[in-house]
Amino acid sequence: LPRRFAGSEKSVWVEYIQLASEYNPLNLGQGFPDFPPPKYATDALAKVATGENYMIHQYTRGFGHPRLVAALAKLYSQLIGREINPQTEIVTTLGAYEALYSTITGHVDDGDEVIIIEPFFDCYEPMVKYAGGVPRFIPLRLKSEVKGRLPSSGDYVLDPNELESMFNTKTKIIILNTPNNPLGKVFTEKELVHIADLCKKWNVLCISDEVYEWLVFKPNKHIRIATLPGMWERTLTIGSAGKTFSLTGWKLGWVYGPANLMVNIQMIHQNSVYTGVTPIQEAAAIGFETELPRLGTDECYFISMPKELEKKRDYTVKFLSDVGMVPIVPEGGYFIIADWSPLDSAQVAYLSVAVIMTVNNSNFDKSDELQAEILDDINKPRSNKRKKHVKTIKS
Ligand code: PMP
Ligand code: GLN
Repeated sequence: LPRRFAGSEKSVWVEYIQLASEYNPLNLGQGFPDFPPPKYATDALAKVATGENYMIHQYTRGFGHPRLVAALAKLYSQLIGREINPQTEIVTTLGAYEALYSTITGHVDDGDEVIIIEPFFDCYEPMVKYAGGVPRFIPLRLKSEVKGRLPSSGDYVLDPNELESMFNTKTKIIILNTPNNPLGKVFTEKELVHIADLCKKWNVLCISDEVYEWLVFKPNKHIRIATLPGMWERTLTIGSAGKTFSLTGWKLGWVYGPANLMVNIQMIHQNSVYTGVTPIQEAAAIGFETELPRLGTDECYFISMPKELEKKRDYTVKFLSDVGMVPIVPEGGYFIIADWSPLDSAQVAYLSVAVIMTVNNSNFDKSDELQAEILDDINKPRSNKRKKHVKTIKS
């Protein structure tokens, strides 16, 4: 094994999905929706797949299917307030994963330092190492003791002095992920301005992983760091159709940024992947074309989806705290981190089963009733009743 790969032999995702297929449990180990994607998206894919235009099943333009880059350019030109060139300032990729890979590999040289904010999406570290870079970690820290309320992901902040001490002449990139996986933190404007100022001071690039850009709960606001003064020139922003339209299996992502940086991404992409999946890109383009005219309105999926998810967030937070865990209330994203240490381990295993039910649409309506029963049962550990519930939940 080449030395640069050492330490990355195992992947939590590979292991969990394998275990899930062997034992068929409720899979809490991975973030993907268990409700259907918007109908217009799946209808579009069906139509594209069986339509008369058979050329849609052949290779498309390498740096992005023309119809999709046109739609993405329209969308992000509006969102970031500058005209984006679909030919030179966007590349579509095989999921945000490939966007991260091509962006990191296309910019990191031997010995370059890359700042990664903890907790982070796990692939950042191996990707930086594969490219010969040196990851430097800085944690989000709880800003002060939280009393009389639940902690929120917003209580976790970067220490400004610590952040400043991370930058030096070897620093090439900072990877930002807002909303953050797994904490759910949505970085505030003040925090982003500090990061941006340091990037400019030290001539550092920012890779901004914004795959959860639409999954932001009120009153938080997603701010694209590329829109801050002097940041377009040094920011590469990553998105994912999987997260945008709740169809993670489509594995379609993109990067946008200034043309002089995009050429490095194009180079890695053309020599490792060459081109993306044509029918998927065509269908996603139709998805964006559907949403573009209703952007910002209540009918827009990018508005309705986080609203739906927010209810489930609140429900799950309440449920977790009612049973004695301490959840960190997420401001965005798919995930909730909870401190389960106040509970004994038997209860934790039991609750895991119950919690996933609350996020499963098909059972969401029934979950109040079940929760009451579970809460009642939790006070009677090791009773036969518990076994009965586990059975009910499984079925
Ligand atoms: N970045 C983050 C923060 C993610 O959570 C994910 C998916 N889990 C990705 C990137 C990769 O997205 P995709 O499925 O589009 O490759
Ligand atoms: N986004 C998902 C998560 O973070 C899954 C990532 C993956 O499958 N590699 O849970």
